[in-house]
Amino acid sequence: MEPFVKKNQSFLSIDSWMRHYPKLEAGFTTKNGGTSKGFFKTLNLGFHVSDDVTNVCSNREKVAELLQFPLSCWVGAEQTHETVLKKITKADRGTGSDSYESSFKGTDGFYTDEEGILLTLCFADCVPLFFIAPEKRMIGVAHAGWKGSVGQIAKKMIEAWGQENIRPEEILVAIGPSICEKCYIVDKHVINFVEKALEEGGALTYNLITEGQYSLNLQELNRQILLASGVPEQNILQTSLCSSCDHEEFFSHRRDKGRTGRMMSFIGWKEK
Ligand SMILES: [Zn+2]
Repeated sequence: MEPFVKKNQSFLSIDSWMRHYPKLEAGFTTKNGGTSKGFFKTLNLGFHVSDDVTNVCSNREKVAELLQFPLSCWVGAEQTHETVLKKITKADRGTGSDSYESSFKGTDGFYTDEEGILLTLCFADCVPLFFIAPEKRMIGVAHAGWKGSVGQIAKKMIEAWGQENIRPEEILVAIGPSICEKCYIVDKHVINFVEKALEEGGALTYNLITEGQYSLNLQELNRQILLASGVPEQNILQTSLCSSCDHEEFFSHRRDKGRTGRMMSFIGWKEK
Protein backbone atom coordinates (compact mmCIF):
# COMPACT_ATOMS: atom_id res chain seq x y z
CA MET A 1 0.00 0.00 0.00
CA GLU A 2 1.28 3.47 -0.88
CA PRO A 3 2.54 5.12 2.35
CA PHE A 4 2.16 8.68 1.01
CA VAL A 5 -1.56 9.50 1.02
CA LYS A 6 -2.98 12.62 -0.65
CA LYS A 7 -4.70 14.88 1.87
CA ASN A 8 -5.65 17.70 -0.49
CA GLN A 9 -4.28 19.14 -3.74
CA SER A 10 -1.17 20.50 -2.02
CA PHE A 11 0.28 17.68 0.07
CA LEU A 12 0.55 13.98 0.90
CA SER A 13 0.94 12.56 4.40
CA ILE A 14 2.73 9.50 5.75
CA ASP A 15 -0.61 8.26 6.91
CA SER A 16 0.29 5.18 8.97
CA TRP A 17 2.89 7.11 11.00
CA MET A 18 0.49 9.95 11.72
CA ARG A 19 -2.22 7.51 12.84
CA HIS A 20 0.21 5.75 15.20
CA TYR A 21 1.99 8.79 16.59
CA PRO A 22 -0.30 11.63 17.69
CA LYS A 23 0.99 15.18 17.10
CA LEU A 24 3.31 14.00 14.31
CA GLU A 25 3.12 15.90 11.02
CA ALA A 26 5.03 14.21 8.17
CA GLY A 27 4.70 14.29 4.40
CA PHE A 28 5.53 15.79 1.05
CA THR A 29 4.02 18.64 -0.97
CA THR A 30 2.78 18.54 -4.57
CA LYS A 31 3.14 21.26 -7.22
CA ASN A 32 -0.49 22.36 -6.89
CA GLY A 33 -2.40 25.03 -5.01
CA GLY A 34 0.14 27.88 -5.01
CA THR A 35 0.57 31.25 -6.68
CA SER A 36 3.86 30.91 -8.62
CA LYS A 37 3.84 31.37 -12.41
CA GLY A 38 5.64 29.96 -15.44
CA PHE A 39 8.11 27.14 -14.75
CA PHE A 40 7.22 27.37 -11.06
CA LYS A 41 3.49 26.93 -11.49
CA THR A 42 2.12 26.82 -8.90
CA LEU A 43 3.30 25.58 -5.46
CA ASN A 44 7.06 26.15 -5.75
CA LEU A 45 8.60 26.11 -2.25
CA GLY A 46 12.28 26.50 -3.25
CA PHE A 47 13.94 29.91 -2.87
CA HIS A 48 17.02 29.13 -4.98
CA VAL A 49 15.32 28.50 -8.35
CA SER A 50 14.87 32.16 -9.45
CA ASP A 51 11.15 32.24 -8.77
CA ASP A 52 9.66 35.46 -7.38
CA VAL A 53 10.50 35.42 -3.63
CA THR A 54 7.13 36.97 -2.76
CA ASN A 55 5.37 34.04 -4.40
CA VAL A 56 7.61 31.48 -2.65
CA CYS A 57 6.85 33.09 0.71
CA SER A 58 3.14 33.18 -0.04
CA ASN A 59 3.27 29.48 -1.04
CA ARG A 60 5.09 28.68 2.20
CA GLU A 61 2.49 30.57 4.23
CA LYS A 62 -0.20 28.58 2.44
CA VAL A 63 1.43 25.25 3.38
CA ALA A 64 2.01 26.48 6.96
CA GLU A 65 -1.70 27.14 7.24
CA LEU A 66 -2.70 23.79 5.70
CA LEU A 67 -0.40 21.92 8.09
CA GLN A 68 -1.28 24.18 11.04
CA PHE A 69 2.45 24.59 11.58
CA PRO A 70 3.54 28.29 11.59
CA LEU A 71 6.33 29.32 9.20
CA SER A 72 8.23 30.78 12.16
CA CYS A 73 8.71 27.19 13.43
CA TRP A 74 10.22 25.82 10.20
CA VAL A 75 13.90 25.25 9.47
CA GLY A 76 15.40 24.97 5.96
CA ALA A 77 18.79 24.17 4.42
CA GLU A 78 20.99 25.24 1.54
CA GLN A 79 21.27 21.56 0.36
CA THR A 80 24.53 20.98 -1.46
CA HIS A 81 24.33 17.22 -2.27
CA GLU A 82 26.68 16.44 0.58
CA THR A 83 26.00 14.45 3.74
CA VAL A 84 26.18 16.95 6.59
CA LEU A 85 23.40 16.51 9.17
CA LYS A 86 22.39 19.10 11.75
CA LYS A 87 20.64 18.51 15.07
CA ILE A 88 17.99 21.19 15.50
CA THR A 89 16.73 22.78 18.70
CA LYS A 90 14.03 25.34 19.38
CA ALA A 91 16.66 28.09 19.24
CA ASP A 92 17.00 27.37 15.49
CA ARG A 93 13.33 27.90 14.67
CA GLY A 94 12.70 30.15 11.67
CA THR A 95 16.18 29.61 10.19
CA GLY A 96 15.75 29.26 6.43
CA SER A 97 11.98 29.53 6.68
CA ASP A 98 11.54 32.79 4.78
CA SER A 99 14.76 33.23 2.77
CA TYR A 100 17.49 31.12 1.18
CA GLU A 101 20.17 33.41 2.63
CA SER A 102 19.20 32.55 6.19
CA SER A 103 19.12 28.77 5.61
CA PHE A 104 21.62 26.33 7.14
CA LYS A 105 24.65 26.30 4.85
CA GLY A 106 25.99 23.04 3.43
CA THR A 107 23.36 20.93 5.16
CA ASP A 108 21.38 18.04 3.65
CA GLY A 109 19.66 16.58 6.67
CA PHE A 110 18.04 17.56 9.97
CA TYR A 111 16.97 15.76 13.12
CA THR A 112 15.46 16.78 16.43
CA ASP A 113 13.70 15.37 19.48
CA GLU A 114 11.99 18.65 20.36
CA GLU A 115 8.40 19.65 19.71
CA GLY A 116 7.22 22.68 17.77
CA ILE A 117 9.82 22.48 15.00
CA LEU A 118 9.08 21.60 11.36
CA LEU A 119 12.14 20.17 9.59
CA THR A 120 11.91 20.97 5.85
CA LEU A 121 13.96 20.22 2.73
CA CYS A 122 13.29 20.88 -0.97
CA PHE A 123 13.11 18.32 -3.79
CA ALA A 124 12.61 17.81 -7.51
CA ASP A 125 13.63 14.14 -8.21
CA CYS A 126 16.11 13.54 -5.37
CA VAL A 127 14.97 11.06 -2.70
CA PRO A 128 13.43 12.42 0.52
CA LEU A 129 14.19 10.14 3.48
CA PHE A 130 12.03 10.44 6.60
CA PHE A 131 13.14 8.96 9.94
CA ILE A 132 11.41 8.42 13.26
CA ALA A 133 12.35 6.64 16.50
CA PRO A 134 8.96 6.93 18.25
CA GLU A 135 10.10 5.78 21.72
CA LYS A 136 12.88 8.39 21.80
CA ARG A 137 10.74 11.07 20.10
CA MET A 138 13.51 11.57 17.52
CA ILE A 139 12.54 12.60 13.98
CA GLY A 140 14.64 13.43 10.94
CA VAL A 141 14.70 14.11 7.22
CA ALA A 142 17.44 13.85 4.60
CA HIS A 143 18.03 14.83 0.97
CA ALA A 144 19.47 12.00 -1.14
CA GLY A 145 20.17 12.63 -4.81
CA TRP A 146 22.73 10.31 -6.35
CA LYS A 147 25.60 12.04 -4.56
CA GLY A 148 23.92 11.99 -1.15
CA SER A 149 22.80 8.41 -1.73
CA VAL A 150 26.27 7.07 -2.61
CA GLY A 151 27.70 9.29 0.15
CA GLN A 152 25.42 7.21 2.41
CA ILE A 153 23.53 10.04 4.04
CA ALA A 154 20.96 7.38 5.10
CA LYS A 155 23.64 5.50 7.04
CA LYS A 156 24.97 8.76 8.50
CA MET A 157 21.56 9.51 9.99
CA ILE A 158 21.42 6.03 11.59
CA GLU A 159 24.94 6.58 12.97
CA ALA A 160 24.10 10.07 14.28
CA TRP A 161 21.12 8.60 16.09
CA GLY A 162 23.41 5.86 17.44
CA GLN A 163 25.26 8.67 19.25
CA GLU A 164 21.91 9.49 20.87
CA ASN A 165 21.58 5.89 22.09
CA ILE A 166 19.04 4.95 19.45
CA ARG A 167 19.49 1.50 17.93
CA PRO A 168 18.76 0.86 14.20
CA GLU A 169 15.96 -1.56 15.21
CA GLU A 170 14.10 1.33 16.86
CA ILE A 171 14.14 3.45 13.71
CA LEU A 172 11.37 3.61 11.10
CA VAL A 173 12.14 5.10 7.69
CA ALA A 174 9.93 6.26 4.82
CA ILE A 175 11.38 6.69 1.33
CA GLY A 176 9.39 9.42 -0.39
CA PRO A 177 8.29 10.51 -3.89
CA SER A 178 11.30 10.88 -6.23
CA ILE A 179 12.54 9.86 -9.67
CA CYS A 180 11.88 6.22 -10.60
CA GLU A 181 14.20 3.71 -12.17
CA LYS A 182 12.64 4.07 -15.63
CA CYS A 183 13.07 7.85 -15.63
CA TYR A 184 16.58 7.97 -14.16
CA ILE A 185 19.29 7.14 -16.71
CA VAL A 186 22.90 7.69 -15.62
CA ASP A 187 26.41 6.98 -16.94
CA LYS A 188 29.21 4.71 -15.75
CA HIS A 189 30.73 7.49 -13.62
CA VAL A 190 27.68 7.41 -11.32
CA ILE A 191 27.48 3.60 -11.36
CA ASN A 192 31.08 3.32 -10.14
CA PHE A 193 30.08 5.25 -7.01
CA VAL A 194 26.94 3.12 -6.59
CA GLU A 195 29.03 -0.07 -6.66
CA LYS A 196 31.35 1.35 -4.02
CA ALA A 197 28.40 2.32 -1.81
CA LEU A 198 27.11 -1.26 -1.95
CA GLU A 199 30.44 -2.85 -1.01
CA GLU A 200 29.23 -3.44 2.55
CA GLY A 201 26.27 -5.44 1.24
CA GLY A 202 23.06 -5.12 -0.67
CA ALA A 203 21.61 -6.06 -4.03
CA LEU A 204 22.51 -4.12 -7.18
CA THR A 205 20.04 -1.37 -7.91
CA TYR A 206 20.72 -0.60 -11.58
CA ASN A 207 20.41 -2.12 -15.05
CA LEU A 208 22.42 -1.62 -18.20
CA ILE A 209 20.19 -0.03 -20.87
CA THR A 210 22.63 0.57 -23.72
CA GLU A 211 26.40 1.00 -23.95
CA GLY A 212 27.41 3.23 -20.99
CA GLN A 213 23.80 4.03 -20.04
CA TYR A 214 22.23 2.65 -16.89
CA SER A 215 18.82 2.87 -15.31
CA LEU A 216 19.35 3.56 -11.59
CA ASN A 217 16.84 2.93 -8.81
CA LEU A 218 17.80 5.55 -6.22
CA GLN A 219 14.96 4.65 -3.85
CA GLU A 220 16.10 1.02 -3.77
CA LEU A 221 19.74 2.09 -3.35
CA ASN A 222 18.75 3.97 -0.20
CA ARG A 223 16.72 1.00 1.03
CA GLN A 224 19.74 -1.30 0.58
CA ILE A 225 21.95 1.17 2.50
CA LEU A 226 19.39 1.31 5.33
CA LEU A 227 19.24 -2.50 5.50
CA ALA A 228 23.05 -2.67 5.57
CA SER A 229 22.94 -0.11 8.42
CA GLY A 230 20.79 -2.44 10.51
CA VAL A 231 17.30 -1.03 9.92
CA PRO A 232 14.92 -4.01 9.74
CA GLU A 233 13.14 -4.51 6.42
CA GLN A 234 9.70 -4.27 8.03
CA ASN A 235 10.59 -0.80 9.40
CA ILE A 236 11.02 0.70 5.92
CA LEU A 237 8.15 2.19 3.92
CA GLN A 238 8.79 2.83 0.25
CA THR A 239 6.75 4.99 -2.10
CA SER A 240 5.72 3.99 -5.61
CA LEU A 241 5.34 7.64 -6.67
CA CYS A 242 7.69 9.08 -9.29
CA SER A 243 8.30 12.83 -9.55
CA SER A 244 9.11 12.55 -13.26
CA CYS A 245 6.31 10.14 -14.37
CA ASP A 246 3.63 12.15 -12.60
CA HIS A 247 3.31 15.43 -14.52
CA GLU A 248 0.15 16.43 -12.71
CA GLU A 249 1.47 16.21 -9.16
CA PHE A 250 5.20 16.90 -9.10
CA PHE A 251 8.03 19.10 -10.35
CA SER A 252 10.87 17.12 -11.96
CA HIS A 253 14.36 18.52 -12.52
CA ARG A 254 15.08 15.90 -15.21
CA ARG A 255 11.77 16.01 -17.03
CA ASP A 256 11.53 19.81 -16.91
CA LYS A 257 15.17 20.18 -18.02
CA GLY A 258 16.35 22.03 -14.93
CA ARG A 259 13.78 24.83 -15.08
CA THR A 260 11.23 23.90 -12.48
CA GLY A 261 10.03 24.39 -8.93
CA ARG A 262 10.59 22.39 -5.76
CA MET A 263 8.38 20.25 -3.57
CA MET A 264 9.05 20.09 0.16
CA SER A 265 9.46 17.23 2.61
CA PHE A 266 8.40 18.01 6.14
CA ILE A 267 8.38 16.33 9.54
CA GLY A 268 7.65 17.78 12.96
CA TRP A 269 6.01 17.21 16.33
CA LYS A 270 3.21 19.66 17.04
CA GLU A 271 3.23 21.23 20.48
CA LYS A 272 -0.48 20.66 20.97
ZN1 LIG B 1 9.29 7.76 -13.47
